[in-house]
Amino acid sequence: MDFGEVLEEIAAEAPQQVGRGKVASYIPALAGVSPEKFGMAIHTVDGVTFSVGDAGEPFSIQSISKVFSLMLAMRIVGDDLWSRVGREPSGNAFNSLVQLEYEQGIPRNPFINAGALVVIDALVSVLQEAKICFLEFARGLADDPGVNFDEVVSQSEDTHGHVNRALVNFLKAYGNIRTDIDTVLDAYFHHCSLAMNCAQLAHAFLPLANNGVSISTEDSVLTALQARQVNSLMLTCGLYDAVGEFAYRVGLPAKSGVGGGIVAVVPGEMTIAVWAPELDETGNSVMGTRALELFSQITQRSIF
Ligand code: GLN
Repeated sequence: MDFGEVLEEIAAEAPQQVGRGKVASYIPALAGVSPEKFGMAIHTVDGVTFSVGDAGEPFSIQSISKVFSLMLAMRIVGDDLWSRVGREPSGNAFNSLVQLEYEQGIPRNPFINAGALVVIDALVSVLQEAKICFLEFARGLADDPGVNFDEVVSQSEDTHGHVNRALVNFLKAYGNIRTDIDTVLDAYFHHCSLAMNCAQLAHAFLPLANNGVSISTEDSVLTALQARQVNSLMLTCGLYDAVGEFAYRVGLPAKSGVGGGIVAVVPGEMTIAVWAPELDETGNSVMGTRALELFSQITQRSIF
């Protein structure tokens, strides 16, 4: 199959979808992104790449970074993490506070904001320079030393991050944040602000399609079991309270972010990253979801 042609076919639908969602505005630095952007990239585990549209333009990866934080924590914190964060879909908005109270400060999963804050606290507990270690890890995954934080975005989120501040304080009250609140928030806002393009993201997710092994270095980033576990968590928790609908339409493990990116994994074969800034009411990219639905239908790729 010619994946280049598949991408062209998908991209042809992008202009029709513009106007069906809204670019995230609760982080003011994201509000100015053009709603017409569309990029998509495929990276196979054999090292072949395909791309279309704005696949080379960096955007704010936002919650997609929660996959990198989790991978790093699985490497260096290990199973202790799972006494502090669950592995169930939340059925709530990604930044919801309500569930935390009746579940006594144990976030449902590592891909909602509360869960990622706990994961980052666990990293900050054991790493001296957690932000730098995270950045180096992301650069290594993307095989690109040019990947960087966007200080304007992280500052903007810090200034307007009242809900995340509430979440971390609430977690602290339940004893599930062990380090300093401001350090955790600063690391969290920086993780979310990472600027990457579709091609870099597709590369960075490759170990999840390749039994945990990097195709650039041939090192094990995760064990094969851990890679399967991360994929399972993405399938059940990667798109917040739209995860059932996404599994129905696409059938692949994936992670979204409010910058409009979604990265999906076809285990054993390839990764696909897509970027289209307009979001639906659950905070997931409208055209990103549609693009992956078209991809799975045209190529018959689904884990089911
Ligand atoms: N930085 C965003 C936040 O904390 C990430 C949310 C997202 O991408 N879903 O609200």
